[in-house]
Amino acid sequence: MGKVIRLLLLGGTGEAAELARGLSGTPGLTVITSLAGRTRKPHELPGEVRVGGFGGVAGLVTYLQDQAIDLVVDATHPFAATMAANAAAACDEVRLPRLKLHRPPWPRQDSDRWIDVPSADEAAAALPGLASRVFLTTGRQDIAAFTPYAETWFLVRLIDRPAEPLPLQQYELILARGPFQAKSEADLMSDHGIEALVSKNSGGNSTYGKIAAARLKKLPVIMIERPAVPSGEIVDSVEEALEWIAKRLA
Ligand code: NAP
Repeated sequence: MGKVIRLLLLGGTGEAAELARGLSGTPGLTVITSLAGRTRKPHELPGEVRVGGFGGVAGLVTYLQDQAIDLVVDATHPFAATMAANAAAACDEVRLPRLKLHRPPWPRQDSDRWIDVPSADEAAAALPGLASRVFLTTGRQDIAAFTPYAETWFLVRLIDRPAEPLPLQQYELILARGPFQAKSEADLMSDHGIEALVSKNSGGNSTYGKIAAARLKKLPVIMIERPAVPSGEIVDSVEEALEWIAKRLA
């Protein structure tokens, strides 16, 4: 029997889960999905799963060596810039092939009213004078950027209930996980008198409903642009990632 190839799949996205399912049962391949551990109930995944940070580039280098990893696919979220940079640096150091699976950003359509900003801080700074009731969908880690805007009321949607109250003066919290449809997103915005949406340009279908709903309702979207991707091999679909892996198994 030939050598079993060990693939580390950096996950936390729908694409990573899809890839793990697509690779399940592949002869000669062991897949280990790595999750940061941010969500309390991650989706069920086939294969091995490990949870928690590696400890920076040095920790990841040690992990890759200890676990005798042969290939790395970074299928983390387009905004997980630290993990992507760490994966690139660690794989360069130990000379491992690494693929970045990077889903395409949402394209702007003619009737979209997007205000592109480079960061959550800039998104927050764009709100005064634009909207006083805001739908905030950036995720927990970016909420602190909105703390100084005490006059603004926020509808905040998160997957898990945070351990602490949010650092906002006026808000309502809803807990929900996608996929979300345009119709229900538009209803949610109407019910709460929303005047603007704050979103990352995450791409993908699961959370596109809010973007389509804002377009229908002619609402402005403060759109946080993506961070840069480390250089190296990159694909934008699960199918292409499967092909890349198949070539290395051949
Ligand atoms: P990040 O800022 O790039 O990473 C921060 C630290 O979290 C990393 O340095 C690493 O810790 C750890 N980490 C991140 N992803 C990991 C993974 N897949 N396995 C093991 N450790 C990981 O990442 P983030 O934006 O906080 O995202 C965390 C996770 O949530 C990722 O898996 C990402 O795919 C997912 N996610 C993020 C977003 C978003 O908007 N950022 C949205 C949806 C899902 P060490 O340095 O200790 O190794």
